[in-house]
Amino acid sequence: MALHADIIAQLEQAVPGRVYVGEAIKADYAHDEMPIYGEAMPDAVVEVTNTQETAAVCKICYDNDLPIIPRGAGTGLCSGCVAFGGGVIVDTTKMNQILGYDLENFTVRVQSGVLLNDLANDCMEKGVMYPPDPGEKFATVGGNVSTNAGGMRAVKYGTTRDYVKAMTVVLPNGEIVRFGAEASKTSSGYSLMHLMIGSEGTLGIITELSLKVIPQPKQNVSLLGLFPDLNSAISCVPQVKMAGLDPQALEFMPRGNVEMIHEFLGKTVYPYKADGEEVEAYLLSTFDCQKEEELDEIMEKAAETFLENGALDVIVYDTPDAIRNAWMVRSSTLEAILAKYEQSDECDVVVPIPQIPEFINYVTGLEDEVGLAVLASGHAGDGNCHVNVCAHLDLPQEEFVQRAQRFMDLAYDKAAELGGMVSGEHGIGSAKLSYLEKSMGQVTMDLMRGVKRAFDPKGLLNPGKVCGK
Ligand SMILES: Cc1cc2nc3c(=O)[nH]c(=O)nc-3n(C[C@H](O)[C@H](O)[C@H](O)COP(=O)(O)OP(=O)(O)OC[C@H]3O[C@@H](n4cnc5c(N)ncnc54)[C@H](O)[C@@H]3O)c2cc1C
Repeated sequence: MALHADIIAQLEQAVPGRVYVGEAIKADYAHDEMPIYGEAMPDAVVEVTNTQETAAVCKICYDNDLPIIPRGAGTGLCSGCVAFGGGVIVDTTKMNQILGYDLENFTVRVQSGVLLNDLANDCMEKGVMYPPDPGEKFATVGGNVSTNAGGMRAVKYGTTRDYVKAMTVVLPNGEIVRFGAEASKTSSGYSLMHLMIGSEGTLGIITELSLKVIPQPKQNVSLLGLFPDLNSAISCVPQVKMAGLDPQALEFMPRGNVEMIHEFLGKTVYPYKADGEEVEAYLLSTFDCQKEEELDEIMEKAAETFLENGALDVIVYDTPDAIRNAWMVRSSTLEAILAKYEQSDECDVVVPIPQIPEFINYVTGLEDEVGLAVLASGHAGDGNCHVNVCAHLDLPQEEFVQRAQRFMDLAYDKAAELGGMVSGEHGIGSAKLSYLEKSMGQVTMDLMRGVKRAFDPKGLLNPGKVCGK
């Protein structure tokens, strides 16, 4: 249904002064961080500040058959928060209060629009850590939960899912429900909370969260392994785990990526040669623990393991500045790509760890065939590979999109052949839907659509995302 003046008036009554229509809607609402997947303006944007307002907005939309599109900070990478069919964007970023801690129960309660950066810093001040650490710190925690965001620390601490204890959810018809509990475990029927995690705004709008925190590790050190090729870098990963080392993060970077990032940073951080040989792949790790003596032992054992398994050399970073500098290279990957190339598409497939080299060698080997630059790096500790295909503006956009599509078809087929999944952490949104359908098959997609219907019988919440109907 179209957005009539009386519906706008109802919305205005529910969230006074925070309803935007027509030219008052900022252009950013037309896309997330990947505008290449398409742009669309919503009919209205409303900024909510609490559960009750969210419920009132949903009820108005539901009663008037208007699509409802939940949105966090809009940092997603698969068009999950874009209103392709029009409708009302529910912007959660003003619902951003940290509601309180129960440190005896290692729990923090937040509104879903709080930014990850703000939560992480606040936790540090309280002497605890909220472990999920996706690269974009200015995403909302609600967005992180809705995409089950991963990040660098997933190898030791798991993904966002592992830190959600309970949540308040507004269903599309405006009903308010609470899923999960602040208790430590449960075996109490279907876990609707876990269905909500990673549902990308298609089942309900998360308004509040109870999250698990852990004692803050007091010591950490980073080691950079310099390897002659990607195969030896990746084959080192199981050995690191077998040695009883429990890395907080373990990232791989082929040399081509590092050269591009050095160019972007305007300085050389990692060496290109070690022991007289060319370095072709890097393994960047961080280890954490509580005691200094323990850290020395970990550091020694990790360096030994890297060297015994093919590293040409190992560099240790053991001061906060040195660690920050070493990690700046890895965290600048996307920025460096976007600074160098005007056109880019990406995938974040996840494959079993031993298959990383085969996948990466395959996709980088497609450069000539598809006529695009291919840059790949990722999380060696969990098999999540981030691959960008890029071009300059001298390639017309239409041609870029066609070539990128050809590349993605091949890359997703290869990932499936190697036992992988479509997305390790970014989600499906609308951009990856056809690949999800292909990899999951009809029965699984029908089950997902059945779940969607149970939550949203009219199909009004974030239509066209994840399972499409
Ligand atoms: C530079 C950069 C680095 C990144 N690094 C990582 C990384 O390391 N790991 C990773 O996993 N991701 C990464 N991302 C992707 C992105 O930051 C995450 O997907 C993040 O979780 C999105 O949060 P957001 O608040 O921006 O959500 P949005 O982009 O606004 O929305 C994402 C999805 O969640 C839904 N949604 C948002 N809030 C709610 C809510 N309260 N209730 C219900 N549904 C909701 C939306 O409808 C949409 O489907 C990166 C992005 C960038 C730009």
